Amino acid sequence: MARHLTTTADFSTAEIEAVFERARLYTGDQTSQDLRGRLVINIFFENSTRTRSSFEVAARRLGAEVVSLDVATSSEAKGETLHDTAANLDAMGASAIVVRHKNAGVPKILSQSVSASVVNGGDGAHAHPTQALLDLFTLQEALGDVQGKKIAIVGDIKSSRVAGSNIELLRRFGMEVILVAPPHFLPKRRDIATSWDLKATAQEVDAIMALRTQTERHKSPLYASLADYATDFKVTQEILGDRDVVVLHPGPVHRNVDLDDAVLSDARCLVLKQVRNGVAVRMALLHKLILG
Ligand code: ASP
Repeated sequence: MARHLTTTADFSTAEIEAVFERARLYTGDQTSQDLRGRLVINIFFENSTRTRSSFEVAARRLGAEVVSLDVATSSEAKGETLHDTAANLDAMGASAIVVRHKNAGVPKILSQSVSASVVNGGDGAHAHPTQALLDLFTLQEALGDVQGKKIAIVGDIKSSRVAGSNIELLRRFGMEVILVAPPHFLPKRRDIATSWDLKATAQEVDAIMALRTQTERHKSPLYASLADYATDFKVTQEILGDRDVVVLHPGPVHRNVDLDDAVLSDARCLVLKQVRNGVAVRMALLHKLILG
């Protein structure tokens, strides 16, 4: 039975630690032929720059063949059901299918009807498990053991699949998560600390994860303007001060809205480190799913 990664909860803590151990072997751009003769198919029904190319690079560095389907020309546009698309991809002998879709739950549904391993590359506002894995990996690299460390997740948390996956994973590894956002961007849950005061919260955390405002997921505008949002929630160098704190963002960054220019070029900003680690973590993940 193939294993899948549709949410972070699909993997036990020990499994994640094993994936990270392998990922550490790949952080220096190493290559291998471990997946030679294997096929990885990327099917992205929603835009992606980083995630899709990261999976392509990861699969190629392990010697696999990769096919990335162009959504504009895919069969969904011609009325084929997702189920049939997946069955066809599976029939080509794929070992892993990475899927992104605007609807929550699509990767899970596909995983029930194919024999390949399905990886969720982001489904609606629900989950983005590989982003959370690479974020935790990057945090561990920067902070050491994250147990007891504090992180502020800032921005459009309600509509962010990155926030959803990180909240589950980072808390499981012992981090204290504080959500910082205007009320309309906060999820309705009582089990987690929230704040509207970025400046004050920034003084007490070890890490700040800024998020992009997910305008494409809002049915109607939830905020006056991005500029108004930025007035209170942009992470600036002034907010960081000289504190020992690291800054993450999954990308794409709304420059000078989520993070200001100076923060993006500050040594404490790990955005490009996240991208780099993303390849290593996805290599380790494909290795685990395909070879066991
Ligand atoms: N790239 C991330 C995602 O696909 C974050 C974002 O788009 O804002 O969810």
